[in-house]
Amino acid sequence: MSDIIRLLPDSVANQIAAGEVIQRPASVVKELVENAVDAGATSIQVIIKDAGRTLIQVVDNGKGMSDTDARMAFERHATSKIERADDLFSLHTMGFRGEALASIAAVAQIDLRTMLHDSEAGTRLIINGSKVESQMPEACAPGTNLMVKNLFFNVPVRRKFLKKDSVELANIMREFERLALVNPGIEFQFVNNDTTVHRMVGSSMKQRILDLFGKSLEKQILPVSTTTPIVTVNGFIGRPEHARKRNALQYLMVNGRHMRHPYFHKAVMTCFEPLIPGDSQPNYFLDFRVDPQTIDVNIHPTKNEIKFENETAIWQILTAAVKESLGRFNAVPGIDFDSSEVPEIPVFRPNAEGMHEVEIDRGYNPFDQPRPRQSGFSGCNSLRSTGKISDWEQLYEGFMGKPMEGSNQEANLESVESTLLDEPADSEMNVRNCDESATIQIKNRYILSPVSSGVMVIDQHRAHVKVLYESYISQLSESTAPSQRIMFPEIIELDASQGALLSDIAPKLEECGFELSFLGDNSWSITSQPSLLSGVKPKDALLRIIDDAAQNRPDSSDGWKSLLALSMARSAAIQSGKRLSAPEREHLLNELLKLPTPNYTPDGLLIISVIQNENIAELFA
Ligand code: ADP
Ligand code: MG
Repeated sequence: MSDIIRLLPDSVANQIAAGEVIQRPASVVKELVENAVDAGATSIQVIIKDAGRTLIQVVDNGKGMSDTDARMAFERHATSKIERADDLFSLHTMGFRGEALASIAAVAQIDLRTMLHDSEAGTRLIINGSKVESQMPEACAPGTNLMVKNLFFNVPVRRKFLKKDSVELANIMREFERLALVNPGIEFQFVNNDTTVHRMVGSSMKQRILDLFGKSLEKQILPVSTTTPIVTVNGFIGRPEHARKRNALQYLMVNGRHMRHPYFHKAVMTCFEPLIPGDSQPNYFLDFRVDPQTIDVNIHPTKNEIKFENETAIWQILTAAVKESLGRFNAVPGIDFDSSEVPEIPVFRPNAEGMHEVEIDRGYNPFDQPRPRQSGFSGCNSLRSTGKISDWEQLYEGFMGKPMEGSNQEANLESVESTLLDEPADSEMNVRNCDESATIQIKNRYILSPVSSGVMVIDQHRAHVKVLYESYISQLSESTAPSQRIMFPEIIELDASQGALLSDIAPKLEECGFELSFLGDNSWSITSQPSLLSGVKPKDALLRIIDDAAQNRPDSSDGWKSLLALSMARSAAIQSGKRLSAPEREHLLNELLKLPTPNYTPDGLLIISVIQNENIAELFA
C-alpha cells in the first residue's frame, strides 16, 4: 500500500487552529484589541456591524507595522512578542502565540491599513481566507486599522452556528467591557451599527467602572488596596447592600489581563457570605499585580484561566484586603462622639436607596395646625424623622397651643420625648439630655442616640441579632457547644419535607447542642437544646432553623455554623416591640459598637443609619 500521510496545506491548518482561537465574533474583538494594547495604543476604536458578522474593525494609534511585518503577522506562529520558550515565563504582553491573526485571516476577509509612526507611507493588505490578494503602499494614519469582514464566510457550518445577533452582540459587549476595564488608561470608543455606544477617555479604574457600568455605582463601591511582596491588589468591591440577585459585576484581572479564577472568586464570596442574602452576589472589580514569573497564562487556549504559584497566600491576602475594606466602611466603633471626624457609615439621606429605615414626612406643613415652635429643641428634635405621620400626630398631641420657649426648654423636650414613647415613661430615664451617652427608644423598636454628625438610629432587633450571632459563631467554632436538658421534652410535628430535611441535618444540630429523637411519622422530640438558647422555646428555635436551612442549604461546615448561629440569634434576640430600659439600651449599643462590622446583620440588613445634621436643619429651613 502506498503512503497516505500528507501535510495539510497552511490554509487548512489555519482553519483548524482558528476553531480553537476564534470561536465567535467576540473572540476576534478580544484578539484585535489585545494586539492594539500590546502595540502601545493610547486610543482604540472598535466598530461593529451586524453583531460582527459583516464587520469587526479595530483602529488603534499604536506603533503600527512595517510592510514586511504586516505580511508576516498573518503567518502562523509569527509573533514579535516572544523569542524563546523562556520568554513564556515572563510575559508582559497580552499576545504571545502568534496565532490570532493567522486564524482570523483563515476564516474571514481582511483589510489592513497600518503605518509605523516614523514612516512616510503605510501599507494596505487584503487577505481572503488566508490568501493574500494584494498589498500596496497607502497613505494612512500612524497605527493600525484592521477590518475583519464576513467572518466565517468560507466555513458555512461555523457561520450557521453563530447565535442570534442579540446574543453575539452581548458577547462582544461583554468582551469589550472586560478589555476597557483592564485598560482604564486607554481611550476607548465602541460603535455598533453606526451608533456610538461608548466613548471613554483614558482615566482611573474607578472612572472606567462608572463609564462602563453607570454613574450609580459611584456610591455603591468601596476601594480595596493592599501591597505585599507577592501581590498587589487594587480595585473596588460593591457595598453588601448592593449585592445583586442577577448579573453581578464580577471582574478579576491580573497584570492587565482579565481572568477567570474560581478560587479567588470564592475567596471574595467568603468575605461577603455573612453580609448578604444567600441568593445574592456582590459586585467586585479586583486587579492583581504579580511578578509574571509567578503565573502561568498558558494553560487555556483562550488564555482566560491563569495559574498562580502562590495561590494560597494570595487567597489570604485577598480575603484580608476585602474584609479590611468592608470593615473600614463599617467602622462604627471608631465613631468619636465628640470629634467632628466621623468615619464613613451609612448615612440617612432623603430618598436614598435602601435607607428606608428612617423616613421624613415631607408632606408635613407646620401651618396646617398649631404646632410647637422649634426654638426649644436642640439636636434631639431630629426625632421628627421617625416615620409615619401618625407618630407625629401623637408626638404633638400634648403641645397644641403650648408655645415652647426659653426656660421651658428642658421640660418641653422631656415632654415631647415622653409623648413619643408608646408606653408611659417609667421612672427610669427614657429621656436624657442630648449629651453623648443619651439614648431613647421609639416605637419600642429603634434606639436613637446623638452623634456628632447627627442622630444615629439603631434597629434594636437587628442589633441584638448581630451581637448574638457574633457570640454564637465564636462559641460554635470552639468545640461542641454546651447543651441544656429540657425538663419536659417538647414534641415537634413536621410536614413531610420539613421532616426529611430535619433527618438530614440532625447531626449538625446535635453538634451545636440539640438532642433530638425521632418518634416516627415526621415527629420528633427535643430533649436538649443549646445552652446558648436558654429562655427561647426549643420548638420555635428548631422550626426557624429548619425554615432557614430549607431556603439556603449551606455546603460547608462554616456555612452551617453561620446558618445555625444566625438562626438561633434571630430566635433569641429581643424582638421589635419590646420596651428596653436605659441600661439595656446602652448595654446593647455598647456591645454592638464593639464589633468590627456593626452596620449590617449577617444577612445584610442595615442596623445603623444616621440622620445627618444637614437633614435635620433642612426640616426647619
Ligand atoms: P501575537 O499577538 O500572539 O503575537 P497575533 O497573530 O495576534 O499574535 O499578531 C501577530 C503579530 O502582529 C504581533 O506579534 C505583532 O507584532 C503584530 N501586530 C498585530 N496587531 C498589531 C497592531 N494592532 N499593531 C502593531 N502590531 C500588530
Ligand atoms: Mg495577538
